[in-house]
Amino acid sequence: MIMGRFVIDVSDILGDPGTSLRVDEDVPLERLNVGDTLLTFEKPPHADLTVSNTGIGLAVIGAVTGRATVECSRCLEPFTLSLHGSVESGYLPTSAEATADPDEEWEIFEGGSVDLLPAIAAALVMEVPFAPVHDESCLGICPVCGCDLNREQCECEFTDATDGASPFDVLKDLVPEEDQDEE
Ligand SMILES: [Zn+2]
Ligand SMILES: [Zn+2]
Repeated sequence: MIMGRFVIDVSDILGDPGTSLRVDEDVPLERLNVGDTLLTFEKPPHADLTVSNTGIGLAVIGAVTGRATVECSRCLEPFTLSLHGSVESGYLPTSAEATADPDEEWEIFEGGSVDLLPAIAAALVMEVPFAPVHDESCLGICPVCGCDLNREQCECEFTDATDGASPFDVLKDLVPEEDQDEE
């Protein structure tokens, strides 16, 4: 779910197929949820887009860049993720909705403006790794004592989590044992 809007006035090009306009602006997007990952933008992401009147509808093509703070999926340390997304989306006026090719993916817009925030957010989401890590060699946290293995070395015995797995997968397996210990 995305909060807010990024509405672009397209009334100048609507009546004139072949014309286009440039959008070179900051996007009012502070946070974005991607699965279990929360992105917090350090400053608004920047969009550099061209909106073209194709005669049928509007084609929006361009790039969006941003820097977001996320938690490392292994050690939970916050770090900065640089994102460079490609935006490519099409918009149809409500009047043309009935004649649209159902195989093409169009968003519908009404009046003289289009909200580009969903397309921009989608382009950024595409760039977010499934399990972001602050460093590919991040050792994560110890599944037994919870210490940050990048900073300290503990004496706990545990088998290494398989590559790409979350340290919490190991934690889950350990929970029944811990419960027994506490009894
Ligand atoms: Zn890490
Ligand atoms: Zn430990």
